Amino acid sequence: MKKHHCCVCGKIPLTRNEIGLTKKLIEMETTSFYCLDCLADFLEVDTDFLLERVKEYKEQGCQLF
Ligand SMILES: [Zn+2]
Repeated sequence: MKKHHCCVCGKIPLTRNEIGLTKKLIEMETTSFYCLDCLADFLEVDTDFLLERVKEYKEQGCQLF
């Protein structure tokens, strides 16, 4: 699988959760990925909120996580 990097801070590699969240919360077909911190910053939420979403998506059986 191709390694993605954070388009803001350059963190590499991104975790499966970070990639999944970017797709879910920004755009499925996005080519710009964010690490957890930068995604939280971009969406103006805190990282706990994002981690809660990950938990929810996992519980729903989402294939991205
Ligand atoms: Zn970043």
